[in-house]
Amino acid sequence: MTALSFDRSTLDMRRGACPALSAPMMTGDGLLARVALTDAIAPAQLSELCRLARRHGNGILDISARGNLQIRGLSEASAPVLDADVRALNLPLREGLAVETPPLAGMDKTEIADPRPIAEAIRQGAREIVGLAPKMSVVVDGGGQLRLSALLADIRLVAISTGEGTRWTLLLGGTETTSRIFNVLRETDAISTTLELLRKLAVMGTRARGRDLAVGLSKNDGVNHAASPFGTFHLSNNLFAAGTGPAFGQAGAEDLIALCDEAERLGIQSLKPAFDHSLLFFGPQTACEALTAFARSNGFVTSPSDARSAIAACSGSPACNSAAIATQELAAKTAEECGDLLDGSFKLHVTGCPKGCAHPQPSALALCGTAAGLSLIAQGKASDEPFASVAFADTNNSLRRIADLVRNERQAGENSAACLARLGPRRLAAAVMSGRP
Ligand code: SF4
Repeated sequence: MTALSFDRSTLDMRRGACPALSAPMMTGDGLLARVALTDAIAPAQLSELCRLARRHGNGILDISARGNLQIRGLSEASAPVLDADVRALNLPLREGLAVETPPLAGMDKTEIADPRPIAEAIRQGAREIVGLAPKMSVVVDGGGQLRLSALLADIRLVAISTGEGTRWTLLLGGTETTSRIFNVLRETDAISTTLELLRKLAVMGTRARGRDLAVGLSKNDGVNHAASPFGTFHLSNNLFAAGTGPAFGQAGAEDLIALCDEAERLGIQSLKPAFDHSLLFFGPQTACEALTAFARSNGFVTSPSDARSAIAACSGSPACNSAAIATQELAAKTAEECGDLLDGSFKLHVTGCPKGCAHPQPSALALCGTAAGLSLIAQGKASDEPFASVAFADTNNSLRRIADLVRNERQAGENSAACLARLGPRRLAAAVMSGRP
C-alpha cells in the first residue's frame, strides 16, 4: 500500500471548506472525502467505491446536491489509503476547478449544444490559474431535459439559439434565475472571457466569487428551468436514462452495491452521480424500467412525486457532531405525514445546525435544530431569523399545523411555495402557536 499521510493542515475544518479526495474535511462522523467525476463510470466501479467506503470509512456514502460522491467516516490513517485506492481504480476523477455540465450532455437530443468541449477547454485553461476560492464553480449548460439551473455557480454559460447559430449567455453568481447577465458570446469568446474572469477572481484572492464581478449588471429574470432527475429519460440513439437516488442523498454501501449488481445483471453499462442527490443509469428502455422498479422496491427515490425528493436534509445526528437533531428521521417522518405540502414546488430544508450544508440557498421553509429545539425559518437560509421556535416534542404537531394551513388557504392553481410566500412568516407563526397555552 502506498505510504501516504496527510499533513494536519490538509484536514480542513473551516466553515465553507470544500472536501476533496486528497484534502478531506472533518465532519461529525470523521473525515469526509469527495470523489468528483467528469464522466460516467461502470456500475462495477461504483460497487468498488462502496467497498472502499466500507473498508476505510463507516460504509456510508452521500451523493451531494451537485452530484458528487462523498465517502464518510474516514480516519486520519484511513483517508490517505482511500485516496490511493480510489486513484488505482483509474476513474475519470475531476482535479482542479469544478466545471460542470448537465448529466445528459452529449446524449440528449433536445439540448441546444453539447457543452462538453467548452467545459474541457475551460478546465484545461484554468489549470494555470492559482488562488481561486475553494468552492469556485463554472457551469456550462447546453440546455436539454436536465438543466443545472438550480445549482449556484460563480460563472455560468447557457446555450441559446439565435438566427445566427448558437450563442452562450455568460451569467455571474447565483442560480440561473438569480444571476446577473455579463454578455452573450460566441463559443471561442465564451471560453476566453470565462478564463479572463477567472484570472481576475484569482487576483482578487481566495474569498472572491463570481458575484463580486456582477455589481451593476442587470438581473437575469429568466424562468426556472430546473427539472427533477428522478424518472426515465429518452436520449439519442434509443438510449434511455433511469434517474434514481437514495432518500435524502445518503445510502449504505450494501444498498448501493445491490443496486449496481442489479444494473449489471440487466446489462446497464454506465452511470453518473448527478445533481439533486441522484444517480442516472444509462441503457435500453426495458433495462432502465426494470432497474427503476428494483430501486423503488428497495427504498430509493424514483419519481419527482416522491415527497422525499422535495426535502434537502443534511446528515444530522448521530452522524454529525454539530447536529442538534436527527435530521434524516425528521425528514422521513415529514415526507410520510406532510406529503401534500411537499408538492415539488420548493425544497423543505431540514438541517441539524445553522450551517445548512444540505441546501446553501434560501428555502420557502427551513427547519433548523438548536440546543433548545427547532427553529422554523420562512423564505430564508437556516442561519436567518426564525418565525417560530418550538420544543423537540412539538416538532411534528407544528409541521402538521403548517401543512393544514397551506391545505386550507391554497388558492386555485397555487403551489405550496407560492402559498407559503403569500401567507408570510406572521400567518405561519400564528398557525404554529395555535392551540398552545
Ligand atoms: S448542517 Fe448538518 S451536516 Fe452540516 S455541520 Fe450542521 S448538522 Fe452537520
